[in-house]
Amino acid sequence: MEVLPNNCQFEDTVRETPTTSLHDYDNAYQDFSSHSRTINVALIGNPNCGKTSLFNIASGAREHVGNYSGVTVDAKKGSFKHNGYTFNIVDLPGTYSLAAYSPEELYVRRYLKDETPDVIINVVVASNLERNLYLSTELIDMDRSMVIALNMFDELERNGDKLDYKLLGDMIGVPVVPTVSRTGQGIDELFDTVIKVYEGKHQDVRHVHVNLGRDIESGVTVLKEMLKADGYVGRHFSPRYLAIKLMEHDREVDSLIKDSPDADRIFTERDSQVTRIEKMRNEDITSAIAGEKYGFITGALAETLEKGNKEINNTTHIIDTFVTNKLFGFPIFILIMFAIFWATFEIGAYPMAWIEWGVEQLSNLVQRLMPDGMLKDMIADGIIGGVGGVIVFLPNILILYFCISFMEDSGYMARAAFIMDKLMHKIGLHGKSFIPLIMGFGCNVPAIMSSRSIESQSSRIITILINPFMSCTARLPIYVLLVGAFFEKHAALMFLLIYMTGIAVAMLTARLLRKFYFKADETPFVMELPPYRLPTLKASLRHMWGKGEQYLKKMGGVILVASIIVWALNYFPLHNEQTTIMPVNEITDDSVINIHTDSYLEMMGKAVNPVMEPLGFHWRATVAALAGVPAKEIVVSTLGVLYTGSDDANDASIKTRIKAPNPVTHTPDFTSASALSFILFILLYCPCIATVTAIVKETGTWRYGAFAVIYNTLAAWLIAFAAYRIMLLF
Ligand code: GDP
Ligand code: MG
Repeated sequence: MEVLPNNCQFEDTVRETPTTSLHDYDNAYQDFSSHSRTINVALIGNPNCGKTSLFNIASGAREHVGNYSGVTVDAKKGSFKHNGYTFNIVDLPGTYSLAAYSPEELYVRRYLKDETPDVIINVVVASNLERNLYLSTELIDMDRSMVIALNMFDELERNGDKLDYKLLGDMIGVPVVPTVSRTGQGIDELFDTVIKVYEGKHQDVRHVHVNLGRDIESGVTVLKEMLKADGYVGRHFSPRYLAIKLMEHDREVDSLIKDSPDADRIFTERDSQVTRIEKMRNEDITSAIAGEKYGFITGALAETLEKGNKEINNTTHIIDTFVTNKLFGFPIFILIMFAIFWATFEIGAYPMAWIEWGVEQLSNLVQRLMPDGMLKDMIADGIIGGVGGVIVFLPNILILYFCISFMEDSGYMARAAFIMDKLMHKIGLHGKSFIPLIMGFGCNVPAIMSSRSIESQSSRIITILINPFMSCTARLPIYVLLVGAFFEKHAALMFLLIYMTGIAVAMLTARLLRKFYFKADETPFVMELPPYRLPTLKASLRHMWGKGEQYLKKMGGVILVASIIVWALNYFPLHNEQTTIMPVNEITDDSVINIHTDSYLEMMGKAVNPVMEPLGFHWRATVAALAGVPAKEIVVSTLGVLYTGSDDANDASIKTRIKAPNPVTHTPDFTSASALSFILFILLYCPCIATVTAIVKETGTWRYGAFAVIYNTLAAWLIAFAAYRIMLLF
């Protein structure tokens, strides 16, 4: 299987793979005339069934995989070649059914209607077929070309179960291919099968009716005939599917049929059929249909599935007795978080030192080789100081991402959400909101997008609004720098404290919002605990590297530009060297113009500084905080640019330079008190532009974006102020 990056030109990146079977290739070749050589496939399945893993392994993408529901919120597209065909593959959000209730269900249905993929790959979890096949029955009703990927086949085998999947496929009229999308097993066969189905050459394919029992079937038949006669509505969906959905009072199908000239007659017929069936069955029509479908599944499995006698998910049960325990669950969670921060800081320190060394060598080289002048200053202080000052934190960020990705993939994240459920209810949210919050530790933007999986509108908006308080990795360098400089002995503890402060402010905010703005909302929903799965190292590393790549790209883009701007603003107007010796506080406003020339940056910083002085901020700190509004990484790069100036400290690391006395005031700009207040301010203040944009987009109104900017900055100021004053007491 050849891999294509997203949206690339197929011609120049793809080499043809040698085909395993000459026969298949011949078939594909002969059909060139009658079929286009592109097959559009859509992945459809329950949340957490391995769609994204399959998508990644097939297309070589690096999309986010997580062991809990609701990770994929948008359709992700990719392309690759296989056996002479180009596949365009789409990873759709996970759904349990195709009812038009949740946003995911609507999304998938609209996709099927508007994009009409050539072949659907229905991904099902082999070890949980009873539940997963429900969606398959709905897809069967739709009568589309389809292949079932019997994913996580390894788990089925591990449980000692035996499934005659060939017979199952035969019975339901859909080819079934066992796959392990985590390792790639069976993926080639899967796409071979897709080709066969596409070419109409698979012998298993036939249209099966999921028999709904005599009472319901007679109603379906009547309605189906009416819809067929109508000729208007049946364009996108099969008449049988429409008839069933019509009986279920599906909103979308109702509105589709409303436009038909025959609408009144159809609705009247529907109502009388439904009344008849409900009376006969003594239950409402939706549960009657669902019951029949489950009966179909049970029947199909009774003939094909032989349960092993091994205790299913034994390890999962054992681990869960501790991890989700009322008493131990929370301490274990805190311990794990502590361990993660410890690793981020302590293990990250080694590669960080190497990169620091490299940056230093580069800087020395520039100092030695380049002639003095503006260009040299720009490269040494602006670019190396700024970009180099951020790049040294890459290892810390990678470690944190690795840990988060491991937590997600292993299934622990779902447990964390479970443990937090009680606590989340106290702040008017649900455990489900906890996952977007933890994802915020990585980056707030995808975290905010992933809140789409929360059904309740008010819970969703609250989750979105408190997400920026979850400290993202862009803010991490500031903590690594300042904690390293001022609180080195208790680094991991300080990290925990910082992140906990963020969480506490988030919780307080949620409570306030619930109390004063949104009404309480108690929609209950199932929280699933997927079995633990040991993530593959490859997947975790791949995920981690994906983030690393993004980070490096940011370095070469926005951080580089910002560093040069900050440098220039700090460089101009040109200083008059002799006059800067005078202590700043003895210079009067008039004398500034005559004797000492502030840089533009200094002027800006000093203009704003009165507001920030109560927090112990020096003008440089103020400028750094201001510069961080577009992207939080710029805070550290700005500090990097601002603290390269003094020649005597040129070879020391930024950590040392930041503690050195300011040549003008003769005291260090940062003390442990002002460092803490700076950390807290950066933790909480106005979210970066990308996050504000995400908030506006996801909530659909700019008002919430404005709220985030104003409220968060105020909260940051107050808390940093309080922390500073308390620290001064010691
Ligand atoms: P999605 O929600 O359907 O996109 O599912 P993901 O691709 O995010 O996968 C959910 C979890 O199942 C992840 O932890 C994967 O590592 C794991 N997983 C995916 N495919 C397999 C498989 O074939 N076997 C096993 N054991 N685990 C898998
Ligand atoms: Mg997914």
